[in-house]
Amino acid sequence: MSANNHRKVIIIGSGPAGLAASIYSARANLNPLCIEGFNAGGLIPGGQLMFTSDVENYPGYEKITGPDLMQKMRDQAEHQGTEIITADVSRVDFSQRPFKVWVDDDLYLADAVIIATGARANYLGLESEEQLKNKGVSACAVCDGAFFRNMPVAVVGGGDTAMEEAHYLSGLCSKVTLVHRREEFRASKTMVDRVLNNPKIEVVYNSVVDQVLGVDQEKVTGVRLKNLKTNATTDVPVNAMFVAIGHTPMTELFVGQLETHPNGYLKTVPGSTRTSVEGVFASGDVQDWVYRQAITAAGTGCMAALDAERWLSAQGGH
Ligand SMILES: Cc1cc2nc3c(=O)[nH]c(=O)nc-3n(C[C@H](O)[C@H](O)[C@H](O)COP(=O)(O)OP(=O)(O)OC[C@H]3O[C@@H](n4cnc5c(N)ncnc54)[C@H](O)[C@@H]3O)c2cc1C
Repeated sequence: MSANNHRKVIIIGSGPAGLAASIYSARANLNPLCIEGFNAGGLIPGGQLMFTSDVENYPGYEKITGPDLMQKMRDQAEHQGTEIITADVSRVDFSQRPFKVWVDDDLYLADAVIIATGARANYLGLESEEQLKNKGVSACAVCDGAFFRNMPVAVVGGGDTAMEEAHYLSGLCSKVTLVHRREEFRASKTMVDRVLNNPKIEVVYNSVVDQVLGVDQEKVTGVRLKNLKTNATTDVPVNAMFVAIGHTPMTELFVGQLETHPNGYLKTVPGSTRTSVEGVFASGDVQDWVYRQAITAAGTGCMAALDAERWLSAQGGH
């Protein structure tokens, strides 16, 4: 192994969290290596924002496309001195220090590791849904709801996230149709009551989205709902469909090595990015199922770099 394969800090992932961690680590003279990903879990270098068109809520940019924003972050990380490798990490061993990180057969050693592998939004898996992503199909009301002000929209799901998304959208949109496959919600009673008492939200129970309408017009014009009890279908005119059936955190690599919450997200010590293994830090959506925004991911990426720098200093290695 070359000496170059032993790094003070290795950052896994290149969404807003990984690149913010890279920028801060590079500026702290930690000579970081960012393994930016390739296609693990369906995510790509740049992360989730590579799959969206306009971003209008990242401070400093009134409007920028997701890929442009991520390219700027990547350029900045490289300019500050981050080395970037385009590949997926295939295995890690955090049982002893230096930590081991493999990219296929190539082994890298790290004194500290920052995990920023993100999360993937779950979708229904319909062809029409895939064709209309970014054209009215979204998995993030906070990100895309404002594009549909005063228009009717649909939300799909029955958990707390679906309740939150429906409630949030009711403040912006003319009407929200909440589509749920069962007769009862999984969400907490408080959230359900809030939705049921909201005059702008109509709940359609025992139903699934059979098709998203509008593929020919290249924008969502409605949803075709199928009642699971009667098999009857109904078309509901909407301008957007928000899928709120959860996210999958990209934690497979760390199973058995780092503690996770029951929902699979990485555990961090509250108010920090420290994981259950000293010297391993986690930032962004892989440890956050609450906020799930580019700015919060970048914020925790910054925290992870500062936590890593302070930890390395305390070890006397930096
Ligand atoms: C369609 C869509 C639109 C959105 N719009 C907005 C918006 O307008 N505004 C906003 O603030 N937020 C938006 N979000 C949310 C935002 O994109 C996320 O909160 C943010 O990207 C999370 O950043 P992250 O760095 O934690 O992870 P991610 O962006 O998920 O990036 C994870 C990175 O880890 C890499 N990775 C995963 N596994 C491995 C591995 N084994 N080895 C190496 N690398 C790996 C991936 O390749 C990727 O680079 C949107 C999300 C989606 C899906």
